[in-house]
Amino acid sequence: MDYFLTEEQQTIRDLARRVAEERILPVRAELDEKEEFPWAMIHDIAAADLFRVFVPEEYDGLGGGCLELCLVVEELSRACSGVAVSYAASALGCMTLMEYGTEEQKKKYLPDIASGKRLGAFAITEPTAGSDAGNIKTTAEKVEGGYLLNGTKQFITNGGEAEIYTVIALTDKSKGARGASAILVEKDTPGFTFGKKEKKLGIRSSATRELVFKNCLVPAENLLGREGLGFIQAMRLFDRSRPGIGAQAVGLAQGALEAAVDYAEQRVQFDQLLITMPVIQHMLADMAINVEAARALVYAAARYVDSGAKSVTEVSAAAKVFASDTAMKVATDAVQICGGSGYMRDYPVEKMMRDAKILQIYEGTNQILRSAIAVNLRKRKGRTA
Ligand SMILES: Cc1cc2nc3c(=O)[nH]c(=O)nc-3n(C[C@H](O)[C@H](O)[C@H](O)COP(=O)(O)OP(=O)(O)OC[C@H]3O[C@@H](n4cnc5c(N)ncnc54)[C@H](O)[C@@H]3O)c2cc1C
Repeated sequence: MDYFLTEEQQTIRDLARRVAEERILPVRAELDEKEEFPWAMIHDIAAADLFRVFVPEEYDGLGGGCLELCLVVEELSRACSGVAVSYAASALGCMTLMEYGTEEQKKKYLPDIASGKRLGAFAITEPTAGSDAGNIKTTAEKVEGGYLLNGTKQFITNGGEAEIYTVIALTDKSKGARGASAILVEKDTPGFTFGKKEKKLGIRSSATRELVFKNCLVPAENLLGREGLGFIQAMRLFDRSRPGIGAQAVGLAQGALEAAVDYAEQRVQFDQLLITMPVIQHMLADMAINVEAARALVYAAARYVDSGAKSVTEVSAAAKVFASDTAMKVATDAVQICGGSGYMRDYPVEKMMRDAKILQIYEGTNQILRSAIAVNLRKRKGRTA
């Protein structure tokens, strides 16, 4: 299918594909097994200038938008979703800075993000605030010299590895979510430490960790935008980042489909190749149809975000939900087609099936996002455009 990508977009996609095939694919099983953060891959991605893709040109970036970011994430995820999310989380960590930051803040942090020298991370989730993201308890009390942070963030991607964290904390706890603000916190700030490192079902090379703030004093100039806007900024961020989760899902599903075809083309049972059996052919055809449909929706959502459209919540959520459900189904079917071998760690589909599950959970679970879509449907009385 031709998505009429520009020459620059094709170059970015091809570059990401090359890094994924030459550098990530050969070591993905080992990365998964060791559960080690993929620093070598991060350096390869940086050397290919792919961290520059999502950063504006004024700050040493290439000035790409949501679609360009999706193209990179899709290709990386086709090889390994754990590496892809480590890359994508850096973009997530600096998107609020790019949108609401002052010139000084952007000049200070973005060139290092663009070069891949420093990674970013975004932290809203807490033990009491998952789907109910507004129920955060971490406080950022205004004191002489800045904000004093206290509290714990949970399940933060790139936690411990990133240098620059966008943290959502209450600057006015009497107002709940309406008293939340986005604050940049640097890794070595006194009072900022890392807690539990999670051991996960999938995306095991990525880091998922607690952030612990104990009387952590952050300079007042690290506030992003205005006080009290943090929750709105976070929701706006997810509206624009969810196509990226969709892209992670499309890449993973594409990889699983290719692995299933490869296996079906060489496995003989009943004196026949699996690929010649109608049941297997229909499964593969359905997988291919759904992968392409997911890709089309993800690219459309990314282009809609890049158009500057005001209300992208619904299309962005739809792309994330459809693509992640597709990835889960396609990866599960890929294991089925590979039979007992598919269940073994020697075959990539075993890891892909484990990696797929998180896509239905993070950046808003698929139930929560279906509810958001349904609310909008009621508002618009069922019209789709
Ligand atoms: C590997 C990993 C990486 C993550 N990375 C980050 C990160 O970088 N930054 C960050 O801030 N957060 C991150 N998260 C947090 C993630 O976004 C949350 O886990 C997710 O939003 C779900 O919250 P929860 O885990 O508390 O589940 P819960 O909110 O406890 O939900 C449990 C179940 O109940 C359902 N449910 C809850 N409320 C409703 C409702 N009203 N209607 C219907 N169903 C409902 C949910 O859909 C889910 O099925 C990460 C999580 C994981 C596992």
